[in-house]
Amino acid sequence: MKRWWDLPLSRRTPEAAGALLDAAWLRDGFRDDRQCDQWRDAARDWLIRYFADLDPADEPPGVERTVATTTGRLAVSGRVDRIDRRGEELVVVDYKTGRWVPDADDARGSQPLALYVLGVRRTFRATCRRVELHHVPSRTTAVFEHTEESLARHVGRAEDTGADIVAATAPVAAGGSTEDAFPPRTGSHCGWCDFRRHCPEGQRAAPAREPWAALRT
Ligand code: SF4
Repeated sequence: MKRWWDLPLSRRTPEAAGALLDAAWLRDGFRDDRQCDQWRDAARDWLIRYFADLDPADEPPGVERTVATTTGRLAVSGRVDRIDRRGEELVVVDYKTGRWVPDADDARGSQPLALYVLGVRRTFRATCRRVELHHVPSRTTAVFEHTEESLARHVGRAEDTGADIVAATAPVAAGGSTEDAFPPRTGSHCGWCDFRRHCPEGQRAAPAREPWAALRT
């Protein structure tokens, strides 16, 4: 999606988004050619319809832009899918393509999006409080406008997580076992895990899932 914005303005058509997808499509991980082609065609359709709703001249201030900030106890950075300008304010846009369609609660509860808001403020020296989850297949947008209080709650939770990680690594730094400090957390998710080949506990916990098992067709 970034490459669409990299095109000259005259070439930013919905069909160009489809052509970019065709050029970048990887055929790995599908059951067979038929399934691969079905999903490529579906994804091309999603993109063409999504970009048809955009104004190609409305250049975003940031596309796949890294932003960073510090809190009282953390230094955080991340890459934002898109940063839009609406009036005097900047907006954090995150793309979603999965089966699940996010709602406003998802936008409100996303810690990464909240931290992106702070990163955009620091990086662009601009006002930012709105986050949007753009679900490309359904062309729906889940929105939340952060307050200073909601951002502070996310920062507090992120800082607590950071403190937990530091506490958990202390025994390892003192020469303790990584296995004891970070025991395997097994479950059905082990069926999808990229590391299961090296993880006997995960292999016992769940059968391997085929890469295409979560697709509808
Ligand atoms: S397979 Fe092992 S490494 Fe992967 S999620 Fe399961 S427990 Fe963790």
